[in-house]
Amino acid sequence: MRVLVAGGAGYIGSHTCKALAQAGHVPIVYDSLATGHAWAVKWGPLEQGDLNDPAALGAAMRRHRPDAVINFAGLINVGESAEEPTLYYRSNVASVITLLETMRAHDVGSIVFSSSCATYGVPQRLPIVETMAQNPINPYGRSKRMAEEMLRDACAAHGLGAIALRYFNAAGADADGELGEEHDPETHLIPLVLQAALGTRRSISIFGADYETPDGTCIRDYVHVADLATAHVAALSACRGGQYSAYNLGTGQGVSINDVIGRSRAITGKAITAEAAARRPGDPASLIADASLARQALNWGPVCSDIDNIIHSAWRWMTEHRLRVAG
Ligand code: UDP
Repeated sequence: MRVLVAGGAGYIGSHTCKALAQAGHVPIVYDSLATGHAWAVKWGPLEQGDLNDPAALGAAMRRHRPDAVINFAGLINVGESAEEPTLYYRSNVASVITLLETMRAHDVGSIVFSSSCATYGVPQRLPIVETMAQNPINPYGRSKRMAEEMLRDACAAHGLGAIALRYFNAAGADADGELGEEHDPETHLIPLVLQAALGTRRSISIFGADYETPDGTCIRDYVHVADLATAHVAALSACRGGQYSAYNLGTGQGVSINDVIGRSRAITGKAITAEAAARRPGDPASLIADASLARQALNWGPVCSDIDNIIHSAWRWMTEHRLRVAG
C-alpha cells in the first residue's frame, strides 16, 4: 500500500515508517518539520507541508495517490495544552477536518489515527478498557477525543474506515540505532532521567511523591515505540469501510517513576539525582492499559516493551547513535 504518513518525521511516525517499509508498504511522509526531523525520513519521499493547509495536502495526495493515511501530526504536551488551548484545537482538531475533507476529495478510504490514553482522564478502574468513559482532564486529551468523534462520524456518513490507537506512554528507540526520541524541549520522563544519567541535566524532578500508589509516585504503562509501530501496520490492514474502532496500546504493566529511575541507575551504571517536586497539574495517579482488544482484533501484542529494554534502547540512542544520526 502507498500510505501518506502525516507527522511521519516525528518520533512515533518515523519508527512506523520503518515498520511500514519492512512490511512492503511505501510510506509518503507529509510533515511541516515544525517538530519533526528531515533526518528521520528514510523510507520514502518527504512532502513538507502543514496539515492545516488544504492546498498543500491536496497537492501531495494528487502527486502520490495514497491508498491510506496514518495521522501522527499534532501537538503532544499536556501542560502546554492547558496554557495554549486554541493552539491544540487548531493543531489536533481543525487539522483533522482538513485531512478528512481532503481524503474524501481524493477517494482515500482508510485512516489510522494517533490517539491517547489521555482521552480517559482519571480512569474509573484499572486496567483501562476501551468501553470506559472518556472524560479527559486537559485540552490535549479533549482534542484527541474530539478528533476521534469526527472520525466516528465520518465513518458513519461517508463509508470511511478508521482505527484510533490510544497510546499509553511511548518510549524507547529503534533497535538498529537509526531512530530515537528527539523532542525540543524534552518533557518525557525516560529521556529526562537519562539526561540526568548522562550529566546534561543536573537532576530529575519527580512530579509528586504523595500519590496513592505503593511508592507515592505516578504509575504509567510504558510501551516501546517499535511495538507501537507494528500496531499501526496491523491497523492499516484492519480498516474496513464504514467502521470505526479504537484500541488501547500498552503492556498491562504499571511502572512507577521511582521504578524508572531505579532501573535507569542499574542499566546506565550512573548516579541519577532525583528531587521531589510539586505534582504536575492534570496527571492521574495511575494509567495502565488493558490491550486485549488490540490482541484480538489486530493480533497485536508488545514484544519489546520490557521496561529494561525500553530504557536500554533509549540509553543507546542517547549515547551511541544520536549525534551520528541527528547531528
Ligand atoms: N514526570 C516527572 N518528571 C519529569 C517528567 C515527567 O515526574 O520531569 C512524570 C509525570 O508527572 C508523569 C510521568 O512522569 O507522572 C510520565 O510523564 P510523561 O510526561 O513522560 O508522559 P505522560 O504520562 O504525561 O504522557
